[in-house]
Amino acid sequence: MSAQSNLTESECLALIKYVCDTLTSKSTERAVAAIIEHLRLAFNVSCVSIREVFARPYSLKYTYESLNDKTKEKRINETVTFDEDVWESAMDKFSDGCYIYKANNGQDKPRFIGPVPNQPMCMLQMPMYSGSKFYGVLDLVDFVSIHDWNEYEIAALKVCANFICQYLFRLNTAFTKTKDSSDADSLTGLMSLHAFMEDLDKKILETKNGSPIAVVYIDIHHFKYINETYGYKKGDDLLKLAAQAISDNISQYSHIDICRAYADNFVTSAFIPEEVVPIFDTFVHEQNVKICKKLQSICPDVRIHINVGICYVTEPSITAATAIANANLARKVAKSEGINKPLVFSSDMMEEIKYQEYLNNELPKAIENHDLKVYYQPKINCSDDSLYGAEALVRWQKPDGTFIYPDKFIPVFEKNGNIVEVDFYVYREVFKYIRKRLDNGLPVFPISMNVSRVHFRSNRIVPYVEELLKEYAIPPSLVEFELTENIYMNNFSKADEFISICRSHGIQVSMDDFGSGYSSLNVISTIKIDTLKIDKIFLKSDKLSDSDKAVIETMISMAKRLGMKVICEGVETESQASFLKDVNCDQIQGYYYGKPMDEESFDRFAEKSTIKTKI
Ligand code: C2E
Ligand code: CA
Ligand code: CA
Repeated sequence: MSAQSNLTESECLALIKYVCDTLTSKSTERAVAAIIEHLRLAFNVSCVSIREVFARPYSLKYTYESLNDKTKEKRINETVTFDEDVWESAMDKFSDGCYIYKANNGQDKPRFIGPVPNQPMCMLQMPMYSGSKFYGVLDLVDFVSIHDWNEYEIAALKVCANFICQYLFRLNTAFTKTKDSSDADSLTGLMSLHAFMEDLDKKILETKNGSPIAVVYIDIHHFKYINETYGYKKGDDLLKLAAQAISDNISQYSHIDICRAYADNFVTSAFIPEEVVPIFDTFVHEQNVKICKKLQSICPDVRIHINVGICYVTEPSITAATAIANANLARKVAKSEGINKPLVFSSDMMEEIKYQEYLNNELPKAIENHDLKVYYQPKINCSDDSLYGAEALVRWQKPDGTFIYPDKFIPVFEKNGNIVEVDFYVYREVFKYIRKRLDNGLPVFPISMNVSRVHFRSNRIVPYVEELLKEYAIPPSLVEFELTENIYMNNFSKADEFISICRSHGIQVSMDDFGSGYSSLNVISTIKIDTLKIDKIFLKSDKLSDSDKAVIETMISMAKRLGMKVICEGVETESQASFLKDVNCDQIQGYYYGKPMDEESFDRFAEKSTIKTKI
């Protein structure tokens, strides 16, 4: 028996390339068959076959086979079941790579696996693993001569077996299960949403038997940006890789399905053991980190995030459509709240989302009907308890007379940008109010308005304020804006520009909620603002502790040294007020002096107050 010639290193590389190209370009049915045939010819062996683990224990089924003309035996679709010890010993042999049988080595017959039609001269069995799970074997058998496979050939076969295995795994678990290829997503090869939903509906009927189903909705953040920056080819590559990575990562669960719902949105479903439910979101998060890392290789300059929502289905009354919608809802909540972890759907979420939708839908009408009301809360001068001015705070009065408070709706409108319209409405109401007092010959005072950070995503605020100043002919010294420090986090230059323009007009600017979060002395010393507004959090208790007092005192003296005025908000008691007066605070705002009130009430409040404002 003559020895066969071996493939060179570059021929081995070409072989790997061929396998890759074939798996990505050919239709699913033909790709593996073509590769098997190609391997048989390249290695010049009698037979190459693939056997995949079958549902029964210790069973392998021939799923692909290529034989040369002289080899008559065909075993396609044949399933062979082994004894447990044969199986275990075969697994042992695979632990250090592939198994090679040669007839002249004193081995009387190949040890693995199952009936071999004729006595082979040599055989190479390359195990295939999906993750750590044994998936099947790739067999090269020759009945005529002995092959001395070299290290390049073995390495190449290993790589090829791995590619084929990943491909088959996806094909058999997640990828299109229908014969009709129109039911598959042509880009990724994943099953269509329609087929996915049909399968999920069937699976849901089985939940009564025990295992819950986890439906996971995955969205690649900034995919549109990636597409536009790197081009659609890269975008497609990213989606393909995502499809592959997602399916690889959940391989240990049963009845896995994956589909691309649309664009960059994927949905997976799988039965998971009940005891896994409490930790499943953590598991998914860990997998996501891995997926992101893989995707990062395609576009290294963009930080890739994925947003994920999970819905557990535990009873058969729910439909696939609802389960997917719920998982998607949880995903949206995670995204809008900036939560960088999978979020599990809960019914509260549904209520919250419905409420947010209600607010967003009703807002245009509320603005038109003047259901948004501006309330004014007095600011008092510490020196003599005279009225310094007011802060404008918005409320939403529903037609039934009840109020929605800003903490409920401002965060909702900050998410979708509607806050800009709300603020503009408030500013106009404030300008009108000052104009009215001026026209009525009443004393006027500065009124401060809150500025959402969302304004600095666009350039609308400066022209809008300038227009209001002109339209209502308001002295700029009566206008003040309150900005929180997080404004500087993302849009420093725009916020800085806004402050400079305001101050150049003579409009005052204050830093709101100082000390509540991100504030740092560093920022304060670099930004030119008129007033520091100490957050109400420092006055959480009537009896201020010595350390609270020390902190407040230090903030006040520091602000003064930087040439700023200081106001403290949330003052509710006499003792808090007298402490602040003692430590040279300039102004006080809080329930102790007055709650936010409507225009008429504020007019009455002002009438009773001393007002010393000079325009
Ligand atoms: P903020 O700017 O810190 O406003 C002060 C909040 O503290 C107001 O709540 C006010 O009613 C409340 N407050 C005043 N004095 C006291 C007190 O002595 N004790 C306690 N516990 N609370 C006091 P409000 O009106 O519910 O507003 C909440 C937040 O909503 C405001 O916090 C502000 O961030 C935002 N907001 C209100 N109106 C507007 C607006 O027109 N535009 C924007 N962008 N945000 C607004
Ligand atoms: Ca404020
Ligand atoms: Ca505040």
